[in-house]
Amino acid sequence: MKDCLFCRIVNKEISSDLIYETDSLVAFKDISPQAPHHILIIPKKHIPTLNDLTDEDTDLVGEIFLAAKKLASDLGIAESGYRIVLNCNADAGQAVFHIHLHLLGGRQMAWPPG
Ligand code: AMP
Ligand code: ZN
Repeated sequence: MKDCLFCRIVNKEISSDLIYETDSLVAFKDISPQAPHHILIIPKKHIPTLNDLTDEDTDLVGEIFLAAKKLASDLGIAESGYRIVLNCNADAGQAVFHIHLHLLGGRQMAWPPG
């Protein structure tokens, strides 16, 4: 989508600190990291929010989670622990309306989240 920041990152129109790419997704470092490791994993397909997922996206969702598992392992935080966050709409603080999974790790996390 033309005016979507993350579509522009997917299309390499905007540079990012890309760390992983497959046919269906990309992962890059968050520009404003909230933990020592803060990666965003996004589908190449433009999906605005979790509410817009359909049955067609079942495999894609699986791939995103398996990418999170792989990256956590690559980063060496699989055993120490990490957090996956997916913000949906205003109350969750979603700022970019192209679905993305936050992978956060490298420090002790608090619960409940803010
Ligand atoms: P959310 O609040 O869940 O929509 O998260 C959006 C995330 O995108 C925030 O953590 C931002 O720091 C991050 N972000 C915004 N612009 C960029 C960018 N150009 N490159 C990398 N991360 C970005
Ligand atoms: Zn998009």
